Amino acid sequence: MRRRTFLKKVGGTLLLAGCNSACVLSTAKGAAGNDEDEASWVEARYYEKLPFKRVKCTLCPRECVIDNLETGYCGVRTNRDGVYYTLVYGNPVTLHNDPIEKKPLFHFLPGTMAFSIATVGCNVNCKFCQNWEISQVGPGQVPSYDAPPEVIVNNAKRYGSSSIAYTYTEPVVFTEYMYDTAKLGRQRGVRSVMITNGYINPQPMIDLCGVLDAVKVDLKAFTQKFYDEMVTGELQPVLDILELIKKMGMWTEIVYLVIPTKNDDPGEIREMAQWIKSDLDTETPVHFSRYHPQYLVKNISPTPVSTLRKCHDICRGEGLNYVYIGNVPGNEAEKTYCPQCNEVVVDRIGYTIRAVNIVGGRCKNCGGSIAGVWI
Ligand code: SF4
Repeated sequence: MRRRTFLKKVGGTLLLAGCNSACVLSTAKGAAGNDEDEASWVEARYYEKLPFKRVKCTLCPRECVIDNLETGYCGVRTNRDGVYYTLVYGNPVTLHNDPIEKKPLFHFLPGTMAFSIATVGCNVNCKFCQNWEISQVGPGQVPSYDAPPEVIVNNAKRYGSSSIAYTYTEPVVFTEYMYDTAKLGRQRGVRSVMITNGYINPQPMIDLCGVLDAVKVDLKAFTQKFYDEMVTGELQPVLDILELIKKMGMWTEIVYLVIPTKNDDPGEIREMAQWIKSDLDTETPVHFSRYHPQYLVKNISPTPVSTLRKCHDICRGEGLNYVYIGNVPGNEAEKTYCPQCNEVVVDRIGYTIRAVNIVGGRCKNCGGSIAGVWI
């Protein structure tokens, strides 16, 4: 059965696999091997044509130059006779209805659900990737759905999701699909959040800011050495994008996955905190997440909670107002505290919200302002 036929048979509604909250959706189609369904290709929006049917992709700082019949580094954009195509438009491989806390976005509509989608592909290759089975493969190598933007928005509404999250892999590489879905979602009252490595060129990010409501950026370290050894990417463009989206007024949170001996140096953490304070602001939430062995990094033990606490304390000491410890359910640093009176304003354990003591963006106790997007 072809993907489009399948969707017709289920009335355009993606089928939840026996549950209605945070769950995996049933799969529409098996892995297709190397079957490239050219009928579903959509012309890419960020590229330049070069002589001899070559193209230059201008979507991310890698700026791949691609010969005819070749594919870019991310594996999901291909050159056919000098026209550049995205191969994953409308073909997500993962669909979940997740708590927004799982992204994590802690200052954005707490306690709501985010209809979360991903296609295959990524523009970096993190050695510690948690989703490498889908981020480091190409189209057709894992089962996918036929789910154009209207199907995603319909299902977000059907399952009561306040937002659509572009997540799990790297949404930069499916930017056309993300943009069109977010635009339609906005027209129909569903917000959109991008969960990204921030490795994108300024113009596509500026365009996305016109349709997104929040962005979570994985800042993987504060040294180029780490980006060289562990990410295969660059730090400076990510910092530039963080500055850009903050200037554009986008609600932004930062996640920093702490890997022992690799990016947990207190001096580097302090330098990062000082940069956030001087070049962004003190209101941007920073989440220090616990690492567990994954993918190509199997020989480093999970991050000690004491290390996360040290990172947390450095940032608080430098004046950042909202600093969290992630992947340690029940830790006190999962809660949001009012920067003025220090009362708990969002009481959370793991993905569960127990209380929100914020009214009109202000602390219920002292009336102080709490930065974020609140219900
Ligand atoms: S989006 Fe993909 S093809 Fe384009 S420059 Fe980045 S890695 Fe290369």
